[in-house]
Amino acid sequence: MKKISIRHLLNQCVELLFPRYCLLCQDKLFAFEPHLCTHCLAKLPYITNPFSLNNDTEMRLRGRFPFTKAESLLYFDKGGDSQRLIHAIKYQGAKEAATYFGKISGQLLASNACFQTIDLIIPVPMQEDKRRKRGYNQSEHLANGIAEMLHSRVETNCLRKIRATDSQTHHKRNERWENVKNSFLVDYPERLAGKHILLVDDVLTTGATMDACAQVLLTIPGIQISVFTLALAEN
Ligand SMILES: [Zn+2]
Repeated sequence: MKKISIRHLLNQCVELLFPRYCLLCQDKLFAFEPHLCTHCLAKLPYITNPFSLNNDTEMRLRGRFPFTKAESLLYFDKGGDSQRLIHAIKYQGAKEAATYFGKISGQLLASNACFQTIDLIIPVPMQEDKRRKRGYNQSEHLANGIAEMLHSRVETNCLRKIRATDSQTHHKRNERWENVKNSFLVDYPERLAGKHILLVDDVLTTGATMDACAQVLLTIPGIQISVFTLALAEN
């Protein structure tokens, strides 16, 4: 007779009492599926050329500021699965899904020698009142997941958003650069001196936000910057 553990039985009871549903297709999840069903997780639009020299994310940032390496996990497909996933993470409270995708991303990054030298992970900060309203910064949760897999640490006290910028989504390409310029400030620069920093954000579009963060960080002696975003949008 097959032996069934108490833990297995308890898990089954929890599944029955508190069923969970896939963030994308709304199908009921199995116990081993954290936020997305296996099918939806497999068919996300993953970046096809990670770690290659001049991969799509690096090409987006090339010439803007000096960086060591830049990667994304997904392409941002408008109206498609990755947009819906990020929408759930940002606006529907699915912050644990951000940590989960951070772990998946961290696993990928850990396989590359360059990312193994990351000293600190800095999520792109949100304006404090905006953060309070949402209750969390999704990039911070993403960074927590990455940090776990890279055996690194998340630093949230050194980069601060100081000026209200309108939501980037309402701006045309050129306006985005002006809108976000000079809107970040560095605190405790001595903590970052000589360190390899991984800047983390949810979506990379024009690169204006990353550039604004990098410009202030690059004033710190000996700093080295790499970049990761969960998704890369069309420019
Ligand atoms: Zn699904």
